[in-house]
Amino acid sequence: MQTRFTSAQLADPAVAHSETILRKCVHCGFCTATCPTYVELGNELDSPRGRIYLIKEMLENDRPADKETTTHIDRCLSCLSCMTTCPSGVNYMHLVDHARAHIEKTYRRPFFDRLNRALLANILPYPSRFRAALKLARIGKPFSKLFGMSTALKPVAAMLELAPASLPSPRPQPSQQIASPRGRVAILEGCAQSVLDPEINAATVRLLNRLGIEVAKPEREGCCGALVHHMGREAEAIAQAKKNVDAWWKVHEREPVDAIIINASGCGTTVKDYGHLLRYEPAYAEKASALAALALDVTEFLTRFDLGAPRRWSSLRVAYHSACSMQHGQRITSEPKTLLKKAGFTVLDPPEGHICCGSAGVYNILQPELAGELRTRKVANIESVRPDLVAAGNLGCITQIGLGTHLPIVHTIELLDWAYGGPVPRGLENFKGFVSDVPGHVAA
Ligand code: SF4
Ligand code: SF4
Repeated sequence: MQTRFTSAQLADPAVAHSETILRKCVHCGFCTATCPTYVELGNELDSPRGRIYLIKEMLENDRPADKETTTHIDRCLSCLSCMTTCPSGVNYMHLVDHARAHIEKTYRRPFFDRLNRALLANILPYPSRFRAALKLARIGKPFSKLFGMSTALKPVAAMLELAPASLPSPRPQPSQQIASPRGRVAILEGCAQSVLDPEINAATVRLLNRLGIEVAKPEREGCCGALVHHMGREAEAIAQAKKNVDAWWKVHEREPVDAIIINASGCGTTVKDYGHLLRYEPAYAEKASALAALALDVTEFLTRFDLGAPRRWSSLRVAYHSACSMQHGQRITSEPKTLLKKAGFTVLDPPEGHICCGSAGVYNILQPELAGELRTRKVANIESVRPDLVAAGNLGCITQIGLGTHLPIVHTIELLDWAYGGPVPRGLENFKGFVSDVPGHVAA
């Protein structure tokens, strides 16, 4: 794609980076077919190619974002399906991140939109605030339909619907002392996940400890920054990333870790890109790149080991939902399924697996209607393969899909933990497939 940036504009390294990305796009449109918003809405401006044009126009003319550009960029899920499809290697992720930051700086959103975004940015990344907000949400939950009747308050309705009826108690991350560890890792405990489902981290630590892996606990670690970054709040994302770099570097300096384990793929995509996010921060750039190179999804890390035969056997048919951040953001496709198969589960691939479920960070709150349509589509595809339950590697997807189906849905790591000796995933204690497993039966 030809561009017309001036040399003065290109003196800004962020613009220069976006220009390089824009020039790679050859307008072929292959990406449109796999873009969920284009598939749903059929509007070129809601396709990756259309958005690329809008971003080019906005940046090239050095103009503030307008309502139209903002609307179409806001509808983008950042699912990155377009990046998987693109034959030219267009880094849409960095381009849309730049566009979002530009929109945030130059466009004044309507009052309720600003308020909703400010609330999300100031609550979700902080576990104690998030926990308090979820307790409050229980009071408002019965009124969610009422809020949904006002366009401006639809995000509030979506928040209330997504809020669980009850919360698990907070629990410290368990970790065993291992006499002669085979390895040492740090885990990103995450923000929302540690409140909504602390069992995911607990299952991860149990599995790693069983393998003889020591789990270090970094102090003052926090949200990875993805939630605010997707809203264009770049400075906040950078601040959150720096906090994690400080926390992990301290641990790594004391005694090197083999990996930074991430069990929420949305966070994984962001942490693996910390080198880029902190590239203009002289005190952090190098450390951020080094730590990003150590970041691994827990399933990537586990496939480096022989987990042996499972201690429990189940005939459960598991529909594996590959989060967009897993398959498109990190290009992890086979590892989770291989591990589940080795653990004895029958793994099913639902049709249209490349299409987003509509979760996408806070997308299901800010764009509830489109997110709802994508959820309906995803659930129909999952249910079409007639599974006993669903597994996914990202809590956002688990929550989003769980609202649309009666099928149990768990984190991949909870199934693996159970198969190798851990407890039955929370809430499924009476689920037939788990109670009827044959102790001692070993996979062939
Ligand atoms: S990130 Fe997803 S929603 Fe956004 S343009 Fe690409 S394919 Fe479409
Ligand atoms: S597939 Fe890639 S090169 Fe083709 S239009 Fe989409 S972004 Fe541009």
